[in-house]
Amino acid sequence: MLRISLLRFLSLPSRSSSSSSLFFNPVSPHSHSQNMATSAYMTSSDSASSAKLLFRQLFEKESSTYTYLLADVAHPDKPALLIDPVDKMVDRDISLVKELGLKLIYAMNTHVHADHVTGTGLIKTKLPGVKSIISKASNSKADRLIEAGEKIHFGDLFLEVRATPGHTLGCVTYVTGDGPNQPQPRMAFTGDALLIRGCGRTDFQGGSSHQLYKSVHSQVRTC
Ligand SMILES: [Zn+2]
Repeated sequence: MLRISLLRFLSLPSRSSSSSSLFFNPVSPHSHSQNMATSAYMTSSDSASSAKLLFRQLFEKESSTYTYLLADVAHPDKPALLIDPVDKMVDRDISLVKELGLKLIYAMNTHVHADHVTGTGLIKTKLPGVKSIISKASNSKADRLIEAGEKIHFGDLFLEVRATPGHTLGCVTYVTGDGPNQPQPRMAFTGDALLIRGCGRTDFQGGSSHQLYKSVHSQVRTC
């Protein structure tokens, strides 16, 4: 099994206000990642608009994979989504969804994972009605195949899709929405496009270091 250190969450500066230009370095499972991610969440939940966003960072240590649970808890249905679920942790994820009283609507991937088996299929069998999402460019199967620029809505919140190829051809980054009622600071879920003090490997799966450099600088580090 490949051991790839994974970044799954990056907080981006606000486009409209430089005063909240909060930029977090990638988090690492081998450093003080939990603290950094928690502080990002705490900061995010300070503003009234972001009080609607529920955010949980989950970890699977064998593949060093972060899974993220997001939900609009101000909406009556509490619609939720999971980013990059791992198959062996599906029961944990579903228990948490139930415990928090959420309605899981999407199980989505940033890319086709070489280092672990995705849990989206398993989640769909355990929670019928959940839709899977992956990029069209990944050449994989899902209920919804997304492309750059699309929005994925959950309640009154949404994620934007950005194409960030380079680790694989089909990598995308999901960025929290831009708008008066969307959480600030914005967050980017980069999958393996951007890691802890580095990037995902580019030597297989159609990878390209040149393309990845362009992706990170044009799609992730700008907002
Ligand atoms: Zn990967």
